[in-house]
Amino acid sequence: MIELTYSRATDVDDAVRRAAEGQGRYLGGGTNLVDLMRETVETPSALVDVTGLSRQVEPTANGGLMIGAAARNTAVAEHEVVRSGYPMLARAIVAGASAQIRNMATVGGNLLQRTRCTYFYDTDGSRCNKRAPGDGCDAIEGFNRMHAILGASPSCVATHPSDMCVALAALDAVVHLRNVSGERTIGMCDLHKLPEDRPDIETVLEPGELITAVELPAPNPAERSTYRKVRDRSSYAFALVSVAAALELDGDRVAGARLALGGVAPKPWRARRAEEAMRGRPATEATFLEAADAELADARPLSGNAFKVELARRTLAAVLEDLTEAGRA
Ligand code: SF4
Repeated sequence: MIELTYSRATDVDDAVRRAAEGQGRYLGGGTNLVDLMRETVETPSALVDVTGLSRQVEPTANGGLMIGAAARNTAVAEHEVVRSGYPMLARAIVAGASAQIRNMATVGGNLLQRTRCTYFYDTDGSRCNKRAPGDGCDAIEGFNRMHAILGASPSCVATHPSDMCVALAALDAVVHLRNVSGERTIGMCDLHKLPEDRPDIETVLEPGELITAVELPAPNPAERSTYRKVRDRSSYAFALVSVAAALELDGDRVAGARLALGGVAPKPWRARRAEEAMRGRPATEATFLEAADAELADARPLSGNAFKVELARRTLAAVLEDLTEAGRA
């Protein structure tokens, strides 16, 4: 049995103080952390329950939305302003998990969930650099159908599992952080790190730093946006490929786009090359496929996942074609 202490934070100051004192982990809905503890992948000595902190979803002065980190995924996906102003986010959350899990999972926890690489969870027999740095990676020569084609390293080829994070990356969300030293903000695209030679370090968070809120910029009324997830079965599987896309047209041309891919990289993958490749060009299938090719030029598929390159290419182009049609309707 693993001994640990459990306490409930009464407010943000209390949470960061408790975490600093006990070197504890923050506990949100527990939908990933508790699994990791059951499998002894993680063995924290202290848990600081932060589910009693802000769950508010409220407008900001500049027309955006501030989402408290303890807000449940269901509450965010069903929020009227999220559904109308940020449909890609609402769709990503609904695509991400069953209703039961969405009812428990928090926004802050979603951002910090860990890969579902099966070798990572197999503490009995598998080598995993993310779990035990320097041990090796059994996925590289093993079963790697679900693994990364972009941004991986010789140390780790795992994918980031979140759907919500892909939409937040495309939306240019800002993450609000606090620890005992103060507070700061960081762009969603800068929160997660690529594995390089330290796949165990997954974010830029400092020890004891708490995610307090996620801020969305004001929606662009000229954009059409959506989220599409391709998976092995029609419900509640992790993405083979997903696309978060927002498209603004100027007549028959692309005025601008914000694109992110899921299921293909160790972090939510903002597709800036594709965005640049499309800007000012005709909104056609040929343009969208060329943009996808630009984004995927550095793809390095493994033995079992070469199909993801073409799947990502076609999914990105198809989503953009659908948004173009919707924009003309
Ligand atoms: Fe571990 Fe990453 Fe290799 Fe999976 S891909 S076994 S998480 S090092």
